[in-house]
Amino acid sequence: MNSDVNPVWEYAPAPENRDIANLKPSYRMYLDGEFVEGGGEPLKTVNPATEEVLAEVSTAAPSDVDRAVKAARRAHERVWGRMPGAERAKYIYRIARMIAERSRELAVLESMDNGKPIKESRDVDVPTASAHFFYHAGWADKLAYAGLGPDPRPLGVAGQVIPWNFPLLMAAWKLAPALACGNTVVLKPAETTPLTALVLAEIIQQADLPPGVVNILPGAGDVGAELTNHAGVDKVAFTGSTEVGKLIQRSLAGSGKKLTLELGGKAANVVFDDAPLDQAVEGIVNGIFFNQGHVCCAGSRLLVQESVADELLEKLHARVSTLRIGDPLDKNTDVGAINSREQLNKITELVSSGEAEGATRWTSPCPLPDKGFFFAPTVFAGVSQAMRIAREEIFGPVLSVLTFRTPDEAVAKANNTPYGLSAGIWTDKGSRILWMANKLRAGVVWANTFNRFDPTAPFGGYQESGFGREGGRTGLEAYLDV
Ligand code: NAP
Ligand code: MG
Repeated sequence: MNSDVNPVWEYAPAPENRDIANLKPSYRMYLDGEFVEGGGEPLKTVNPATEEVLAEVSTAAPSDVDRAVKAARRAHERVWGRMPGAERAKYIYRIARMIAERSRELAVLESMDNGKPIKESRDVDVPTASAHFFYHAGWADKLAYAGLGPDPRPLGVAGQVIPWNFPLLMAAWKLAPALACGNTVVLKPAETTPLTALVLAEIIQQADLPPGVVNILPGAGDVGAELTNHAGVDKVAFTGSTEVGKLIQRSLAGSGKKLTLELGGKAANVVFDDAPLDQAVEGIVNGIFFNQGHVCCAGSRLLVQESVADELLEKLHARVSTLRIGDPLDKNTDVGAINSREQLNKITELVSSGEAEGATRWTSPCPLPDKGFFFAPTVFAGVSQAMRIAREEIFGPVLSVLTFRTPDEAVAKANNTPYGLSAGIWTDKGSRILWMANKLRAGVVWANTFNRFDPTAPFGGYQESGFGREGGRTGLEAYLDV
């Protein structure tokens, strides 16, 4: 081929400047309004794209958890729980604005600590985190009009534990409604991604929240267990795996604590033969390759009507081949790094099981970086419902494709899962969307789109995806005694 006639277009590197992250060599935990050294063994947080240690982070000992819960109790009883909602709102609006002001710094830091592409942290995680504070600030003085009774009261002290896939955004989902409703909080970020939560603690300090209203204690699962089991906690909110969610539910049984669980998923993304296929391909790609597939509501099971399956798969392979995998700080990167070696091993193991059980594997030919934890986008065809890759949450950039012939079969297959967090429907017929949405056992059903998040829309699961809702008017109920 004459390259003058058919030039090969290459992207020039477009790296975001890592200095913007203001990375410090060490970070301390935030307890009772101050940054303090925790009594636990410090942890080292790693950039999964380079395997370099980013910073050392102090962790909480059981005595720190106890101090934080007591500080939160004091703050609740003396200030925050009795403050008029309109006053609380001012603080929460301030947090929302300060997140927006420091959005670039937060986005770069998030991409370095988590491995997600900068375009996602910049355009999704950080703005949505800010939006959650804005939205809930608006509720703080209107709780009596939320339809939850004339005099809804805060629950008291909330113990909150979050995962690593959306570190800042999950902190915002947890903190904003709790604070708006007059609760105080002790929050534990995930072990592998503590940094943006600690910058958020800085923002909270600068926003002048009274000491003890928010406490942020990094650490591993044992700190989470210490917190959720602490007798001084009135409400536990957990986002993470179904396995740990079950443990927490078991240990809280009979304690009188209120509990909400946002757990795993294995969502069906259902494409009918009348769907606009090119548009559906974009939705499928966004559904499973957004955030490396580390998304609880990822569209990890593609159910496609048999008559269009071949055509759709061909389009899908062509589109996925164009995704750029690599440096999360490069503005052209579509798929970043897997968050940890442990998660990479889990993905690799499940993908091998798919091959061993006889599914047909297709993997994008994209080049992968030499260093860091990366996994090329992968699509399995010929998947049957009994295979592990159709049943278990892979939590990585791996799509399992199944086919169906009739709408009833689509519903039966979509609902054939112990989970029930989200689902997607692609069709030209509005009546079919409504019919399907009524039959799908999932907390969120997207129609001709996927992975859309908005603070006004309640989010949550059925079955083993958990219970309780976050976001919207409904989400307030989890933090109020009504
Ligand atoms: P995970 O292992 O359950 O961890 C979640 C959080 O719980 C982490 O902070 C973890 O600490 C902590 N933890 C571990 N053991 C604990 C215990 N015994 N008691 C209290 N806390 C404990 O989940 P993950 O692997 O980090 O996250 C992935 C999972 O989260 C996936 O299943 C995904 O679907 C789910 N998720 C759900 C939603 C949703 O809204 N439904 C959203 C995002 C993710 P360490 O960091 O030290 O492990
Ligand atoms: Mg990290």
